[in-house]
Amino acid sequence: MRAAMASAEVGDDVYREDPTVNRLEEMAADLCEKEAALFVTSGTLGNQLAVKLHTRPGDDAVIESRGHIYCYELGAAAAISGITFRPVINADGSGHLSVSEIRSELATGGTYYASRTGLLCLENSHNFAGGSVMSADECSERCQVARDAGIPVHMDGARIFNAAAALECDVADLVKDCDSVMFCLSKGLGAPVGSMLAGKREFIDEARVWRKRLGGGMRQAGILAAAGLIALDDGAKRLHDDHSNAKRLARGIAAIDGFSIDVDNVVTNIVIFDVAGSGRTAAEIVSQLAVYDIHAFSFGTSIRMVTHLNVTADDIETTIKCLSRIAV
Ligand SMILES: *Cc1c(COP(=O)(O)O)cnc(C)c1O
Repeated sequence: MRAAMASAEVGDDVYREDPTVNRLEEMAADLCEKEAALFVTSGTLGNQLAVKLHTRPGDDAVIESRGHIYCYELGAAAAISGITFRPVINADGSGHLSVSEIRSELATGGTYYASRTGLLCLENSHNFAGGSVMSADECSERCQVARDAGIPVHMDGARIFNAAAALECDVADLVKDCDSVMFCLSKGLGAPVGSMLAGKREFIDEARVWRKRLGGGMRQAGILAAAGLIALDDGAKRLHDDHSNAKRLARGIAAIDGFSIDVDNVVTNIVIFDVAGSGRTAAEIVSQLAVYDIHAFSFGTSIRMVTHLNVTADDIETTIKCLSRIAV
C-alpha cells in the first residue's frame, strides 16, 4: 500500500484533475451502484455533508439513540446544518430501528410547533450495538417507510463492507434504497485516510461544493486515493478473518468470570462486553490492557474491542490470556 501511494499518479483534485482520485470515486460509485461518489477526508465529513444536503436548518433527523451521527460527531449537525435529532430508543437493542419504530416516529410530526423531519439516518453495521447488521431486505423495508413519508435516507455505512461480508451480499444490495451512503476506507478496509460519500450525481456535485467550503478540498490527493483503491480491492476480501477473530475473542471473553457477552451477537469485527460482574471498572481494565499494548475503549461498564488487519489470531489468544489475568 505504501509503495502504491508513493508511485500514485496525481493531479489537482480541486480541479478534478487527479486521475487516481477519479478512479477511486468511479470504483466507489460502481460498488454502491450509485451515480457518483466523492472522496472525503473522514467518515464524519461524509456523514455531515449528507446531513447538510438532505436537511434545512430547523429540521430534525430520526436516528437510533446510539447512532454515530448523533452521539459521536461533536454536535456537527447542529453546528453546521442547524438541525436537531429525534433519537429513538430501539426496543430490541439491536441498534436497528424497527419498521414500526420508524413509522411511529415519522407520524409524530405534522403539528405547527413540531420540527420538520428532514432525514432518516441508518447505521450498518451499528458501532455501539456491537457491530450488529441489517440485511438488504431489512434496509429496504426501512427506506420504504421513509419514502412513503417523503423523507430521504442516509446510510452511515462506515463499516458497510463488514456488514456485506457478514451477510454474504453486495454492498450495493444494502444501500439500494438509500439516497446516500458514506463508508470508510480507513478502519476495517485498512487505508490510512479517507471515506467515500455516494449518491445521485446532482447530490454529489453539491457535496463537492460543501466539501470545499468546509476546507475538505484536497489537491494531490491521489497518494491517499491509491491506498483507498487497494483497501477496496484487497481490504474488502479479508474481512472474514477479522470476523472470525472477533468471534474467537468473544468466546474467550464469555468464559471469563465477571465478564458478560452474548457471543451470538458478534457477527462482524466489533466485540462489546460488560465487566460489571468483575467488580472492576471498565476504565481500569482498559488502562491495564494498555500496559500489554492492547488497546480498547471503555464506556460505562462496557469495553469495546475491534479486530482489523493488524490483529492476528495469536493476538486474540494473547488478549484473552491478559483479560483472564486482569479479571481476577
Ligand atoms: C468511525 C465512524 C464514523 C466516522 O468516521 P471518522 O473517519 O472517524 O470521522 C462514522 N460512523 C461510524 C458508525 C463510525 O464507526
